[in-house]
Amino acid sequence: MTAISGFHGFHCKDCDLKIAESMFACPSCGSDRIETIFLKEQGKVYTFTVVHVGFGHMAGKTPYVLAIVETEENVKLTTVLEDADVNQIAIGNKVKFKRNDDKIGPVFQPA
Ligand SMILES: [Zn+2]
Repeated sequence: MTAISGFHGFHCKDCDLKIAESMFACPSCGSDRIETIFLKEQGKVYTFTVVHVGFGHMAGKTPYVLAIVETEENVKLTTVLEDADVNQIAIGNKVKFKRNDDKIGPVFQPA
């Protein structure tokens, strides 16, 4: 498997919807004319929670911040914020893409 570099998402050529999660058909209009695009790596915290009891591959990472990040083009995705102070994180904080994790997917960090 080739490592994916950069932060990518999907774009519907018919209705212009952009999302971060992979899709076979557009959830908005049903079109299958989907292309892979690179998304903007800057965004902000839309909402978040601090996880104190993790499970599976996240069990050893607690406490960690599970956040919904909104990118500059208004794409929202659920992600983990690494290198974030769990006592300092707030809605509206600026964040940026950090890396793709094999198990988590795109991971963000404070900007
Ligand atoms: Zn569409």
